[in-house]
Amino acid sequence: MHSNFFLSQSQFRYGQFTTSFTFAPECNLNYTLRWVVLRYYWNTDDTDWADFHGFFFEIQEKSVKIRLIGVISVPIVSKTTRRKVYKPNTQQKMFFLTIASTILFAFGVQKMWFMPIPKGIRVLMYHKISVHEKSDLTITCEQLDSHLNYLQKNDYQFITTQQVIDFYVHQKTLPPNPILLTFDDGYENVFQDAYPILKKYDAKATLFITTAFVGGINAWDRGNDKITTLEQLKKLDTAIFELGLHSHHHQNYKQLSLQQIENDLQTNIDFFKNNHLNYTPAFAYPYGGCPKNAAPAFKKWGIQMAFRIGNKVNHFKTNDLYALKRIDVKGTDDFDTFKLKVKKGRTKLIL
Ligand SMILES: [Zn+2]
Repeated sequence: MHSNFFLSQSQFRYGQFTTSFTFAPECNLNYTLRWVVLRYYWNTDDTDWADFHGFFFEIQEKSVKIRLIGVISVPIVSKTTRRKVYKPNTQQKMFFLTIASTILFAFGVQKMWFMPIPKGIRVLMYHKISVHEKSDLTITCEQLDSHLNYLQKNDYQFITTQQVIDFYVHQKTLPPNPILLTFDDGYENVFQDAYPILKKYDAKATLFITTAFVGGINAWDRGNDKITTLEQLKKLDTAIFELGLHSHHHQNYKQLSLQQIENDLQTNIDFFKNNHLNYTPAFAYPYGGCPKNAAPAFKKWGIQMAFRIGNKVNHFKTNDLYALKRIDVKGTDDFDTFKLKVKKGRTKLIL
């Protein structure tokens, strides 16, 4: 269950309430009831408003989603007297309902087609790659090839994490349409299978390494996927790959004390220093867990930038270098979803 009301400060304000429940688990049916309120302020001084309420009832069976929509409107209400100040006739009601239905339809159903394409730095987040298998965390080689092909054809310029630091911290310039590719955790399959594809497109990628698991498996996920070895890290092609920090133990920093964060950071950095491995002083939060008030600890250890998830494009001007956003690319996304995520950061306005 999730509720989130009146988020925007513009003339239109919106909010939503969502509840999901699963009926007959053996049938794999999931029901979602979503109530979206769109409040339009009639006057610039915020005295009168009209509410449009949209109800979405969704039934999802695996990837098939059926959605039923209902829309009702509340007449214009005065904020001060709480009385109706305007009674529309039937024709006007129909007009408002049509507009409200269209907007609510766009909110809940369509994939942000009405939103402008933001300018800024796009950072894509990948994890594993496989020849055949795809999942939320795993893309296939074919998918990566089609992603890079799309980015190249659409004039995106592959940049490094160091270039992002140089841009934000040292005011250096970036090429137009900059895009940064990142792979979390340091899976061996990225070295083996992503490398030739990245090379083919002259792309670059940053690997955020969880140092406690180097040479082992993704035990934090109770998985059995191999993590790259120290020898592989030492031999890596630095024209393509750049290394970054992803903690030592892959714990959620949001659930750690400041002291625990500092200790983990120190071990993470010591691994690179003791093994004479170059790294870019940038950090990716495990699970996207961005702790509050931890920036001084990161600065103390020389880390200049940190990435959460957030699914947004980073503005060229930012005042929080320790909460930069990345776009979560999933192997289960179809190609249209990938394109939309690259352009706009996410596929839905509210969710
Ligand atoms: Zn991770």
